[in-house]
Amino acid sequence: MDNIFFNQYTFDELLEMLKNKYEWLKLHKERVEKENEEHRNKTYEIGYVSKLREENKRLKEDYYRGFPISKEEKEAIDKWVAEHYKTCKEKGFSYHFYPTPLGVAGVMVCSCGAKFEFQEIG
Ligand SMILES: [Zn+2]
Repeated sequence: MDNIFFNQYTFDELLEMLKNKYEWLKLHKERVEKENEEHRNKTYEIGYVSKLREENKRLKEDYYRGFPISKEEKEAIDKWVAEHYKTCKEKGFSYHFYPTPLGVAGVMVCSCGAKFEFQEIG
């Protein structure tokens, strides 16, 4: 070997250099892999959070667009339905909402025609 680089080192020294280079590359590879992993996690988190934001926005829009029924109104409806079914053989109700300048009136109507106003105005 007449290479000027190799000629100035002994075999052991070259071996040591090679070993050091190998160790450095190994550490470098581990660091890069760790960085990639962190980047992947971050990208996933950003995607997940933005998905949650979209979902939250959609739910809020549904809520404001729709006519929410309160817990108390729901309880009153359930009570009325249970009572009504004691005498009515029809099965099936429809909800009717009437927007008025004073607020939204909510009426439940049975197939038989019976009505229950669960959201009263004023
Ligand atoms: Zn009925």
